[in-house]
Amino acid sequence: MKEPVYKRILLKLSGEALAGKQGTGINTAVIKQIAVDVAEAYKAGVQMGIVIGGGNIYRGVAASAEGMDRASADYMGMLATCINALALQDALEKEGVPTRVQTAIEMAEIAEPYIRRKAIRHLEKERIVIFGAGTGNPFFTTDTAASLRAMEIGAQVIMKATKVDGIYDKDPNKHSDAVKFEKISYIDVLNRGLQVMDSTAISMCMDNKLPIITFDLTQPGNILKAVQGENIGTLVH
Ligand code: UDP
Repeated sequence: MKEPVYKRILLKLSGEALAGKQGTGINTAVIKQIAVDVAEAYKAGVQMGIVIGGGNIYRGVAASAEGMDRASADYMGMLATCINALALQDALEKEGVPTRVQTAIEMAEIAEPYIRRKAIRHLEKERIVIFGAGTGNPFFTTDTAASLRAMEIGAQVIMKATKVDGIYDKDPNKHSDAVKFEKISYIDVLNRGLQVMDSTAISMCMDNKLPIITFDLTQPGNILKAVQGENIGTLVH
């Protein structure tokens, strides 16, 4: 098997990735396929932290647009990410991958609290660490949590798994002449308002020179290809 080019990565999965076509909740077949793909990359010898979103269950911004207090709604969103974290842990362990869940909001009965040094120790012991509850703060997103955790654990890259095979100059679902970028700079992403990650997350990566690779998660085997350095998506650098 081809050697991975990265030793330690941070994988960002959106909550919606777990929902499949139904759009909400957790689809058992879909989460199993994700676990198979993650396990394949893990077995190639990559240390992996995973930040999981919660949009398949609850989104703070959407609830606050309907009148709910934003901070309360965001705390509910963070709890949603913890539900996904536990589902992903279960699916990964069924594939024979040892995991730990660490949450940014303490819930000691079901997961460890986030402790940076402990997370790194788990990675060194070949356990995947799933980070739940985002940053632990309202008004942030799990994309920003991904940037933060990536830097904290010393990841070489953020792998942002999406439903499209990279970043285009316009929506490829609406425009047949949309052009895909092989590489793009952080500042271009920000100036063009491209929907890769939110601007807080992109700025953090830019300030700390942390590359982001976006790729299509719906193609089985893509996580392994990405860690092996295959050019399957778009590099933001
Ligand atoms: N959230 C938050 N702080 C964080 C991360 C997440 O308040 O640091 C809340 C926010 O309400 C968000 C929800 O959790 O809408 C789910 O996360 P996100 O929308 O980022 O999930 P994804 O879009 O990746 O599924």
